[in-house]
Order: sequence, then structure tokens, then C-alpha cells
Amino acid sequence: MNEEQAREKIDQLTKLVLYHSKRYYDQDAPEIEDYEYDKLLHELIDLEEAYPQFAHADSPTKRVVGQVKNTFEPVEHKVQMGSLQDVFSQEEVFAFHERVKEQVADPIYVVEPKIDGLSVSLEYRDGVFVRGSTRGDGFVGEDVTLNLKTIQSIPQRLKKPIPFLEVRGEVYMPEGSFQKLTEEQEIREEKPFKNPRNAAAGSLRQKDPTIAAQRNLDIFVFNIQQIEGESLSGHKESLDFLRQQGFPVSPSYQSFSSMEAVMDEICRIGENREAYSFGIDGAVIKVNSFAQREQLGNTAKYPKWAIAYKYPPEEKPSVLLDIQIKVGRTGVLTPTAVFEPISLAGTTVSRAVLHNQAFIDEKQIAIGDTILVRKAGDIIPEVVGVVSHLPERSVYQIPDICPACGSPVFFEGDQAAKRCQNSDCPAQLLRNLVHFASRDAMDIEGLGPSIVENLVAAGLIKSPADLYDITLGEISSLDRLAEKSGTNLLAAIEKSKQNDLSRLLFALGIRGIGQKAAKLLASRFADMEALFAASEEEISAIDGFGGIMAQAVVEYFSLDATRHLISRLEKAGVNTRSEALSTGDRLKGLTFVLTGTLPNLTRSAAGLLIEEQGGKVASSVSQKTSYVIAGEEAGSKLTKAQALGVPILDEAAFLSLLDGEGAAPIPEEK
Ligand code: NAD
Repeated sequence: MNEEQAREKIDQLTKLVLYHSKRYYDQDAPEIEDYEYDKLLHELIDLEEAYPQFAHADSPTKRVVGQVKNTFEPVEHKVQMGSLQDVFSQEEVFAFHERVKEQVADPIYVVEPKIDGLSVSLEYRDGVFVRGSTRGDGFVGEDVTLNLKTIQSIPQRLKKPIPFLEVRGEVYMPEGSFQKLTEEQEIREEKPFKNPRNAAAGSLRQKDPTIAAQRNLDIFVFNIQQIEGESLSGHKESLDFLRQQGFPVSPSYQSFSSMEAVMDEICRIGENREAYSFGIDGAVIKVNSFAQREQLGNTAKYPKWAIAYKYPPEEKPSVLLDIQIKVGRTGVLTPTAVFEPISLAGTTVSRAVLHNQAFIDEKQIAIGDTILVRKAGDIIPEVVGVVSHLPERSVYQIPDICPACGSPVFFEGDQAAKRCQNSDCPAQLLRNLVHFASRDAMDIEGLGPSIVENLVAAGLIKSPADLYDITLGEISSLDRLAEKSGTNLLAAIEKSKQNDLSRLLFALGIRGIGQKAAKLLASRFADMEALFAASEEEISAIDGFGGIMAQAVVEYFSLDATRHLISRLEKAGVNTRSEALSTGDRLKGLTFVLTGTLPNLTRSAAGLLIEEQGGKVASSVSQKTSYVIAGEEAGSKLTKAQALGVPILDEAAFLSLLDGEGAAPIPEEK
């Protein structure tokens, strides 16, 4: 690499690392895995070392990157909240020891698990918790006291009311809570957090403390930043003291005088990391004596008396036996690799996520191939690539049919994921029912997630249409539901039959069709029949409608399952007509096809007028067409109408038909 190339590479890496740091620290939404980020950062560190003249003054290698959101009050950290220098090998641990020994004699080290969460400072005055803040850029953080107060394990009062104490700890989300949150987010169709660390950070940095309170966060305290009224000389002793004061402290903190023992402890923590109910992304090695720490000092980014050993992600080959498709609660088909069991990062794994078709295509994955599987810390195993291919193989294709319900699946807009659109799909049932009954949809009061779960578990409901067949006896057979609530629920279900078409359209959960789009659809199409007949062109002509939304609507109404569901709902008496449009029935039972350019009316305006009077607009001419309305430059539809003998109207004739004055067919030669 010549100097020019080095300068360019440093610029490029600096921008890239800063971008990913912002996604991670400020937006709690990383786009890449931690080890990928670490690789980029270390590439930058190495280059800056070789070419210091090109290093940027504000390089992310030299400072903690983290912004303070202006939603919170800034808190200045009297004692810097640094990061930790990370190392990845035994050699680097020994090199750290050599550096320490150059300045202090006979250091004793404490080794602790490194918890993967979010760093906070907690301040106590006269034994009372008064303020808590995030790390921010290490010098100024955010005041998140109210959110921290929702964490049960943080003592509000210390056992000993010393004048002042500032401790540092790691807020984390236990894995069980993370899984629960992800499931809830999936049901609510919110973007799930990528991992427990981002979930913890995202929850703690919410303006509304009730959100943090629901997220079941926890903390481990691992350092004393400042203390008055107690004299402590070392780290181990200080953790003992903090424990006595009621803090949950680092889950293990043993001290060692030899580096061999330090390495053994690092390995022990690494081997056991799966046993913890929270994420551990390394081990921290710290000099125990406070006096020695003082001597060693800090850089602008981290202390010189501690390092973090990061466990490398383990990779192993295995034979891909099968690819299974899971249909998620929102209908997305996710492929899972099933391979011969291997032992990785302390656990036996035989499954890994394959993301989507684009991922499979990129890696050219086929069943029978030998694949490379990776697992880093608490991260779900993933397929890194193919080690060897089988001869005469074909790259795996995600099926075009939903494995859960047999309906055709569609690519989701321009995204790589395939999705099942069937509202009756059993894999999506729970989410679809909760959405169907929700306040903005069919507004069925009393039909919340837990009752829906009970109804589904009892086998009483397999489709939203089943709600309208349910009896009081069946509802009353459910646990915990009193007869009075059963009667109320039935009344709410009955009432929902009167809802406008727009509510029903939203309730069906068509991909990308929110409340507003459902209203637009219902103000353009008079009823469900009109929607079954609508073309993508007609739908995308609606103001506010994009092509992807129109495509999703057409795909949805092309499904046999949709036809079946709507006819069941209609039979049950659920309204499928639009209030906005059903103002008359002068054209009831008539089907129109529009072709060519009319002198005054646009085609969609003419369509609207037809639907307002109960007529239907179809996109192609058949024996069933009542009239074809033809304008300038009418094409094959006009010819077909002539061939089939379908009456043809011009704009004037159509308007008089609308006015109830009857219609005269347009002369043949037109
Ligand atoms: P860090 O998280 O690796 O280490 C420092 C932190 O460790 C401290 O802030 C402290 O709160 C915490 N810690 C946990 N347990 C501890 C203990 N027992 N003793 C002392 N400290 C303990 O450093 P960082 O600079 O905050 O962040 C770097 C990490 O963030 C890396 O793992 C990196 O991969 C990740 N990251 C990822 C992305 C991404 O895009 N994926 C972007 C930026 C950073």
C-alpha cells in the first residue's frame, strides 16, 4: 500500500467506523455485527499506527463516540467514563501485563465477566440515589434518573448513608425479557431490536419512564468512580463494599497474581458464558490497587490499568442437511439451515438463520453443501459461507407457496423477503386476530391479546371469520372469563359488523395498508367486489398510493383464501360496503368497463360515479359486462365489446344513465 492509498483507506475507514458508531450508540440500531465493527476499528488502528500523519484528530480510535440526545439533561462526568481497550489473544494479555509492570510493581489483577449492556453512572448523596446518567462521550452523558429508578435492583437507599458515592455499572436486558419483547414487537409490527444490548440502550433512553419500567432491565455494578466517607484501597474490596450496600455487583470477581491464572479465569468465563442469563461479550482484566491505577492513568478513550478480552467468534464446518422455512407472525418466510450438530462457543448447534433469498444466492447455498457456521458470544449462529459444494447442485430457492397455509407468497415490495399475505394463515393467526380486533381496526372491545390466545389455544378460532360464529357457551368455557364479560364480548363482535369498509380493510392486515391507505381505498372503491375487480393501475392512480402498495392490494385480492374469507364475513353479516361511496343504487347489479379518454371525466372519476351508485368497474370486457364506456382512442376493449354485442356508451350517454334518464347506445361506427 503506498502513502496515497493509505490516506484514502484511513479516510474511508474513519467515516465508516463513525457511521456505525452513530447507528450503535446514538440510534441503538446497529447494521453490522460487533466483531465486524471491531475488525474495521482494528484495521483503522493498525493503519493509523503505520501512518500517524494521516490519522484524523477526532478519530474514533482516540475517543468514545456517543452523542447526548437533547431530550435529556446533560450530565458532566467528574470522573471520565472511559471505554476499554480490547484484546483478542493471550499474547496481547501478556503484553498488557508487561506494560503495567513497567510502571508498577507486582500488580494483582481482578478478572470479571464483561456484561454486554449499556454503561451508566449512579450518584448517591447521604445514602440516597439522586442521579443516574449514561456514558455519552465519556465526559458528558444524559440524565436518565427516572428511567433508572424503574430498575428494581438499583438500591434507592444505601445501607450506610455515606456523604457521597458515584458508582459505575452496566444496565442489561436479561435474555428471557429480550425474547418476550421481540415477540411483542413482532405482534405490534414494530422493528425489533437487534440484540439485548441495543434493547437495553433503546429502553433506557426513552423519554417516557413507563416504557423502561415494562422492559424488565437489570444492572451489575462494577466500579466506584468517587466516594466520600469510606476509605477503600482496592477494587475487590470495593466490590465487596458495594455488595454490602445492596448493589448487584459483577457476577464473579476473583483476584490473581500470575498471568497464567488470569488466562485460566478468562477461559473459565468463556466456557461458561452460555450458562448466564444475560449476554457476556468478554472478560475484563483490571489492576486491583487504586494507588497503582492512579499511577498508570488513562488515555482520552480508556484506562491504562484495564483491558477487555473479547472472545473470538468460533467457526466450524458442517454438512447442510436441510433448509426449513418458518413463517413468522407477520407472514415473512425465513429459511433456517439445519446441519449436522457441531459444538460451538460452548453449546451444541444444529440450526442457523439464512436470512432471505438474496443471502442464499450471494453465498450460493445448496442442500448437501459443507457450510461454515459461526457463533460469537450470545449471537444466534449464522452461516458464514460454503466450504465445498456438491457437484450438480442447484442453489436453494425459497418456495412460492406458504408452507403453513398453501397460499402463494410474494416478494415484499422491493425487499428480499417473501411474505404470505393470507389473513387466515395459521402461522400468523395470533397476530392477525389481535390486529383484526384492535381499536383502529374492527374495534372489538374486550378482545385483547390474552383472550385471543385463549380462544386460539382452545381451538375455537382459526380465522377472523370464526369470531362471528362464536357462541356464549364457547366463550364461557374459557378460563377466567365471567359470563358478563362473555356477553359484552359477543355484543362487541356483533357491533363490529356495522363498521365501514375502511376499518375492515385495515383489519385484514394487507401488507403496507395502514389506516390512511385503507380509508383511501374505501373512498375509491364502493365495496369488496370492486376491490376484487380492481387493477394495479386503478389502485396506484389513487392519490397517496405507491406502486408497491397497489401491488400488495392486488396480490391480496388475487388469493383464493381472501375470496373465501370475505365471503364468510359477508355471510356472517359483516359490512363490506363503503360509507363514503354508497350513496345510491341506480347502477346496482351493472358492471362497466372504461376505455379511451373521455372528454370531461377522468377514468377514475367515472369509476367513482359508477361505484357511488352501486355499480362495479371491471378491467376487462366479457359477456358479463353491462356497458363499455368508450372515449377517444379506445382500443381493443371497444373492439371486443363490439364483437360481443355489449352496449357502448359515450360520456354524455353515461351521464344520462347516471341521471336516471336511460341510455342510448353509441352508433356502431364510433
Ligand atoms: P466496550 O463496550 O467493548 O467496553 C467498555 C464497556 O464495557 C464499558 O463502557 C463498560 O460499561 C462495559 N463493561 C461491562 N462489564 C464490565 C466490567 N465488568 N468491568 C468494566 N467494564 C464493563 O467498549 P465501547 O467502546 O463501549 O464499545 C465497543 C463495543 O461496541 C464493541 O463490542 C463494539 O463491537 C461495539 N460496537 C458495535 C458497533 C456495531 O455497529 N455493531 C458499533 C459500535 C460499537
